[in-house]
Amino acid sequence: MSDKMFGSPAYANLLSSITAGRHLLRNRVIMGSMHTRLETEPDGVARQAAFYGERARGEAAVIVTGGFSPNQEGMFDYEGPRLDDAVEALKLRPICDAVHVEGSLICAQILHAGRYAKIEECVAPSAIRAPINRFPPRAMSEEDIRRTIDDFAQAALNAQAAGFDGVEVMGSEGYLINEFTVTRTNMRDDDWGGSVDNRHRFPVEIVRAVRDRCGPGFLIIYRISAADLVEGGAPAEEIVALARKIEFAGADILNTGIGWHEARVPTIAYQVPRGAWRKAAANVKAAVSIPVVASNRINTPEIAESILASGEADLVSMARPFLADPHIVRKAREGRSDEINTCIACNQACLDMIFSNRPASCLVNPRAGREIEFRDALAGAPKNVAIVGGGAAGMATAVEAARLGHIITLFEAEGRLGGQLNLARAVPGKSEFDETLRYYASRLNKYGVTLQLGRRASVDDLVGFDHVVIATGVTPRIPDLPGIDHPNVVTYAQILSGEREAGQSVAVMGAGGIGHDVAEFLVTPAAEADEVAAFFQTWGVDGRFRNDGGLAGDPLADMPAKRKVVMLQRKTSKPGEGLGVSTGWILRNALRKHGVEMLAGVTYQRIDDEGLHVTSNGETRVITADTIVLCTGQVSERALYEELALRGVRSTIIGGAAEAAELDALRAINEGHRLAQSL
Ligand code: NAP
Ligand code: SF4
Repeated sequence: MSDKMFGSPAYANLLSSITAGRHLLRNRVIMGSMHTRLETEPDGVARQAAFYGERARGEAAVIVTGGFSPNQEGMFDYEGPRLDDAVEALKLRPICDAVHVEGSLICAQILHAGRYAKIEECVAPSAIRAPINRFPPRAMSEEDIRRTIDDFAQAALNAQAAGFDGVEVMGSEGYLINEFTVTRTNMRDDDWGGSVDNRHRFPVEIVRAVRDRCGPGFLIIYRISAADLVEGGAPAEEIVALARKIEFAGADILNTGIGWHEARVPTIAYQVPRGAWRKAAANVKAAVSIPVVASNRINTPEIAESILASGEADLVSMARPFLADPHIVRKAREGRSDEINTCIACNQACLDMIFSNRPASCLVNPRAGREIEFRDALAGAPKNVAIVGGGAAGMATAVEAARLGHIITLFEAEGRLGGQLNLARAVPGKSEFDETLRYYASRLNKYGVTLQLGRRASVDDLVGFDHVVIATGVTPRIPDLPGIDHPNVVTYAQILSGEREAGQSVAVMGAGGIGHDVAEFLVTPAAEADEVAAFFQTWGVDGRFRNDGGLAGDPLADMPAKRKVVMLQRKTSKPGEGLGVSTGWILRNALRKHGVEMLAGVTYQRIDDEGLHVTSNGETRVITADTIVLCTGQVSERALYEELALRGVRSTIIGGAAEAAELDALRAINEGHRLAQSL
């Protein structure tokens, strides 16, 4: 292994080169595999070439693509990408070229979805249906197994012919290979099940076959499940035994995966502390001599450097952080870490988009996956632009417009920027929004935006600008209800800002996204010094990753709560139904664990000293509460916009000010960025 380092000394390990197989990697950062669904777009190859090329320009040493199935029955769904057709595979060459021209390597991930495939023909080691798939799998015959091993090797060869430097064999997250390795899903009594060696035979033979077919110079990364986080998962001794066999079979790098998709432990969402899984990678590293990669919730150069410096891994994998900022490594090397747009682990524009069959993008970076839609050329005729409102929409407009050369003045009535982000950051796990605030502050400064903080802009302030943008945001909706002005009634904004404190028994009116966030804020005990240990305790994880599946208890076991909370909504639907697919279940389970009661289908009657009076199922009841928190939606703040219109001053209104319903940071930032591009 080489130790050459170029760039910022703060990241001496991160920026040092390393040899893997016959390749020299320029630094220790792999862009991890992510499904993007870009291949489903009409100009899919061009989009992927632009997407991956941009990340190579940002200096990812190795890029791993989203998963390609090695055959028909291994596809995620009927639209899933495959690598089993040698002629079709050659069409991917422009993607490889776009990465190579920037000096990075690219590996195609080969992923057989096994019993997670959302197709009728799905297969598995044994005919046991996955709890997250409605299709039951067919148990593979011995002939299926032999053919599938060959399919992996052929897919790798097809990738090689298309120009890929290597492949990543996906052996984690509960997909087919992982299903073979554990008794939870492998009940076979032939050569492919039963003993540990038999259960490991499938992955070992795949790696061997890929090596035989593609030769010694082809990079083989194997993604091993370093903690399954499901009952019946592998204990540590089986994981390290597999790691040694995979090394011996010819892999060059061992990447680590954490948790099956059906696990009830959060693994990558914002609730997971940064670097939580580093010890799982360290267990694997201690067993082998090829480079080992740590992954999951590594989102800053600092946490990456700390993992590498501690010797827990040789490389780090970041996937979503490259969506948020394609140039994360380059900026770290150039000493510009303060300019990194950090992934906040919200999953809103990446995973949740994929789950709803849309191409992935990024909440904090609307360009991700849409590279070819945006321009970088400076404005021909710079405009003098006033932006009113320093929340997400206003800041996003300001930094992009200023970057394109416009002269920007940003007015904010509060003494600080951030708007609703300042509230969101108080929610447990959402302090990652601090990074977003830091990023905007740094960009506003870099591009010379004039800030008018603590200044409520008037119409007179705004006449004379070439363009006025109104991003004045939202205020909490106050329902029309007898007793709504009772002193015990507070808004979510007052609670999250710390202006008001809740008592010991609380009724939360409104069970939307904000209601859930506020309930979590109210019941979660104060943050502990060792947040990783506290997280593991909450979700039943064995911090040493020695037990079967890396579990130390029931992930859904009850936990102490800070206070008693009842959440209510008028709709009869399940509370939290509209939450993000990849994070909603975590939030709902966390609230259940902390004893939060949910009531749907209520009619609010009145509020008095006793609490909140409602009718539910035809009966009247009192929710005794010393605090009632209004999470009942928001209304647009449009007064200035309307005043400007009356005075004949034209302006563009965006974000929550334009439309309060379903406002979130995703829409606000996207609208702001796109408006700036169109100025
Ligand atoms: P929301 O999801 O629309 O929820 C508003 C809640 O207020 C609903 O439960 C609604 O339920 C209730 N409500 C509306 N009008 C009411 C009235 N006049 N009287 C009493 N109750 C009323 O909006 P939000 O919670 O304010 O969140 C705003 C946006 O941010 C949403 O797009 C949300 O998805 C997003 N967000 C998401 C998350 C997350 O996914 N974790 C977190 C925060 C925010 P009923 O009408 O049934 O009572
Ligand atoms: Fe990260 Fe959220 Fe962007 Fe996904 S959408 S990459 S989780 S910031």
